[in-house]
Amino acid sequence: MLSKIIAQSHIEHFAKWLNKAEKFVIVTHVSPDGDAIGSSLGLRHFLEMQEKTVQVIVPNGFPDFLCWMDGAKEILRYDKYSDFANKLIMEADVVCCVDFNCLKRIDAMAEAVSSSPARKIMIDHHPEPEPFCDITISHPEVASASELVFRFICRLGYFEDVTKECAECIYTGMMTDTGGFTYNSNNREIYFIISELLEKGIDKDEIYRKVFGSQSESRMRLMGHVLSNMKLFPEYHASLMTLTKKEMEEFHFIRGDSEGFVNMPLSIKGISFSAFIREDTEKPQINISLRSVGDFPCNQVAAAFFNGGGHLNASGGEVHGTMEEAVQRFYAALEQFKPLLTKK
Ligand code: 5GP
Ligand code: MN
Repeated sequence: MLSKIIAQSHIEHFAKWLNKAEKFVIVTHVSPDGDAIGSSLGLRHFLEMQEKTVQVIVPNGFPDFLCWMDGAKEILRYDKYSDFANKLIMEADVVCCVDFNCLKRIDAMAEAVSSSPARKIMIDHHPEPEPFCDITISHPEVASASELVFRFICRLGYFEDVTKECAECIYTGMMTDTGGFTYNSNNREIYFIISELLEKGIDKDEIYRKVFGSQSESRMRLMGHVLSNMKLFPEYHASLMTLTKKEMEEFHFIRGDSEGFVNMPLSIKGISFSAFIREDTEKPQINISLRSVGDFPCNQVAAAFFNGGGHLNASGGEVHGTMEEAVQRFYAALEQFKPLLTKK
């Protein structure tokens, strides 16, 4: 049995919408990851089973290794079809915001979502949600938005309507946001849910291979390059990796090729804080990913130095400046957070 973590009032509120609403739009965060796509498509499958018209809209593209999921090909990219997407968002009865909790995370889509007259629901697991939805289901203690979507569907009383395809999407998000159940994954109910998803016919080993085992040679070589340039700061238990556009070109970089790199230094004994700083491929900005193990708050570093935020152990942000400036900020962060970093 699953604990009833979602408030009954939210379930009842949404159940009323479900009775009346026809047109649903599901939106998720910029540079969507496995959880963003998995939770969006999982929710889409469920709503389609209820005979709703559903469109998933994302701010920009997502990696090839997520494209196998049922419904992925029909996802609408806002950066390519903004007029059509704006029309759908404005005409929707309900907009579902999954795997993000502040409008900044949906980039150029923020204006359309905030001004749409649609009812809005948030299903998310990041700390400190912004109040832009009528129903805010926010559970930072839950490992993935996909897990929350599963819990939401069950609480609405529709477990029977979870298809194999829906279950695959949900499993993918649960798996990717926990690094294949290697972090943030000690809640035993996660394994109860996996058992329920297996019951729906998913092949979890195959999903693992599709997501984590379908790399290109150039990604592997890029990984070697980035790792060989990695800097360690043993006193701070910290590491830094960087990637410039020039290096990306050299290694024929495609979207998603650097996914997961930031986690690798954490497998070095004594390293508990990892930063990965890279040039954006589309916009004139620098993106930062931060990861930690234990109680070091990456999200505080992201907020204080990189205009970002996120979870305690996984956060990110951006710098509108040069690579060199972003690296200098990282050094400043090491100094500011030195008491916490050198604690152990
Ligand atoms: P990633 O390193 O995979 O890009 O991001 C890791 C996590 O950090 C995301 O799941 C998200 O929670 C958070 N994050 C990344 N970028 C930002 C940002 O600009 N703002 C906020 N608030 N969170 C971010
Ligand atoms: Mn997530």
